[in-house]
Amino acid sequence: METNTQTKRVLKGGEFLIKETSFANIRTKDELSEEQKMFGQTAEDFISSRVAPNIQRIDKQDPELVIQILKESAELGLLGAAVPEEFGGMGVDLITDTVINEEIGKGHAWAAAFAAHTGIGTLPILYFGTEEQKQKYLPGLAAGDIKAAYCLTEPGSGSDALGARTKAVLTEDGKYYVLNGQKMWITNGGFADIFTVFAKIDGEKFTAFIVDAKSEGISLGSEEEKLGIKGSSTRQVFFNNVKVPVENVLGVIGKGHKIAFNVLNIGRYKLGVLCLGGSKKACSTAINYANERIQFNVPISSFGAIKHKLAEMAVKIYAAESATYRIAGSIDEMIQNLAAKGTDKVQAKLIAAEEYSIECAILKVFGSEVLDYVVDEAVQVFGGTGFSEEYPVARAYRDSRINRIFEGTNEINRLLSVSMLVKKAMRGELDLITPAMAVQKELMSVPDFGGDSSDDFFAAEKKALKNAKKAILMTAGAAVQKFMQDLEKQQEIIMNISDMLIELYASESILLRTEKLLNTLGEEACALQIDMTRTYISDSLERINLSGKHAITAFNDGDTLRIMLMGLKRFTKYEAFDTIAARRRVADKLIEENKYCF
Ligand SMILES: Cc1cc2nc3c(=O)[nH]c(=O)nc-3n(C[C@H](O)[C@H](O)[C@H](O)COP(=O)(O)OP(=O)(O)OC[C@H]3O[C@@H](n4cnc5c(N)ncnc54)[C@H](O)[C@@H]3O)c2cc1C
Repeated sequence: METNTQTKRVLKGGEFLIKETSFANIRTKDELSEEQKMFGQTAEDFISSRVAPNIQRIDKQDPELVIQILKESAELGLLGAAVPEEFGGMGVDLITDTVINEEIGKGHAWAAAFAAHTGIGTLPILYFGTEEQKQKYLPGLAAGDIKAAYCLTEPGSGSDALGARTKAVLTEDGKYYVLNGQKMWITNGGFADIFTVFAKIDGEKFTAFIVDAKSEGISLGSEEEKLGIKGSSTRQVFFNNVKVPVENVLGVIGKGHKIAFNVLNIGRYKLGVLCLGGSKKACSTAINYANERIQFNVPISSFGAIKHKLAEMAVKIYAAESATYRIAGSIDEMIQNLAAKGTDKVQAKLIAAEEYSIECAILKVFGSEVLDYVVDEAVQVFGGTGFSEEYPVARAYRDSRINRIFEGTNEINRLLSVSMLVKKAMRGELDLITPAMAVQKELMSVPDFGGDSSDDFFAAEKKALKNAKKAILMTAGAAVQKFMQDLEKQQEIIMNISDMLIELYASESILLRTEKLLNTLGEEACALQIDMTRTYISDSLERINLSGKHAITAFNDGDTLRIMLMGLKRFTKYEAFDTIAARRRVADKLIEENKYCF
């Protein structure tokens, strides 16, 4: 493995498993430019002034209001932030887009409408449209004059998206495709002006089409009655002999899967970002309530059990934020490098998002599960009032749940994170074999029981995470050796390996961020970030150990099992750290600030 280096060398996608990197090579939320902060402030002010006061009305299904607020967000440049300037947008980089979307993530059902429009609604045309298609649609999309939706899912094909049955047949005069079929769960379905529809030409060639929502033959189902994001329009869309001009084919005929999957890469990243914003909001709401609610003559925030909850929310959010900006930084860096070599910026973004598709899948899972944890604990902090619709956390709890389901369920994203890694290795893009063999050799050697004599502040944590990589390489390597091509049938094992990967990425991101902060501000100024980092890593290594144990035990026995379990224990070792005291210190700061404050 490479040693730390101060020269800027951003890891490629998936390389975090086999290489070390320096804090100098990552981006963090702590180093935003004034302009980026200003964008964040604009989005924050907009959500608190326009969305929050209207959320009850929005949740009672008021599409006119949702549209009006979308239009207002466009006037501030938010709706078209990521659309290039030549098409009427602001052309911001991914970090800036992230800062904006974090704030949008506090906007409940309205955020779902915004995200579907700017993400899966707009990106297919931005990435895959012809120049004419871009000129025709993007300025209107950025201005909020055209609203967009994305029609992939069908009653019979959700996760198995390529199993779609919607059919397209070319008319005899060669001018139109005629679409027949049914799409389901379409966000913004009730008011969208255009749909990106995936259909199979002649029942075979999976292809995307831009379809005018007013086309003859399109009809909509009624609004779905949902568990959460109630104000977001979700409908079925029926296509009955809908004529679509041939010039509305999007991308290459038969290559619709490229559009569907590539749009999902960046969509997953953005979903992680939205979840981060939602998590911060729910955490602040819980802190605020815990400070106000008196029981046994004291605020409930003074109880250790409540402090634990508040601090653990913050620890997880800090980890999610560290991972988020690390990924955004990697993608932005690659875009800049490609653009410097002459690649068109939009294409560069597409290439970069694909390069970091493993990290995007990881963030989708991690971000949505952190949000679910936070809203669940927020309800608990609220006690009975948490169960009442009169208080804000019930909505947060309901709205959170969808994030583990759309943009690829978390199971599908877990499976993908591992299969994409294995595929990269098979294509020769990522050398997993050499480090995996080195770990096998190390397993048979005498263990190094020594601590780390280095005077590096985070020497113990760095050693622990370097070893955690070995634990994953050992587990994954053995699983690949054992099952070969049949590994994909061992889903429980893949889930465990994926959980280990997610934990590693989060742990390393939090460590690198705090190390960067430490180098800038000094130990005293970031003592609580150090506490959060050590707390996360300490618990994370336990979780990595447990996942590894489940996996290894499923396909080994006798001496091999014993040796591997011993190796796992060795590779997930970390010095004892008092997480209770650390969480108390973190909680005390949250309580003092009366909000999430890191
Ligand atoms: C509110 C809402 C908004 C949505 N918006 C849109 C939209 O705008 N456009 C759009 O096209 N779609 C949209 N969707 C659809 C969404 O993307 C799908 O619901 C999702 O992809 C899952 O598909 P499914 O519901 O058919 O579940 P299924 O695919 O039937 O999955 C059911 C369960 O089985 C698991 N599973 C499935 N396959 C596997 C496998 N191979 N291995 C292991 N486990 C598996 C899943 O993880 C899940 O737990 C939306 C859905 C909802 C609920």
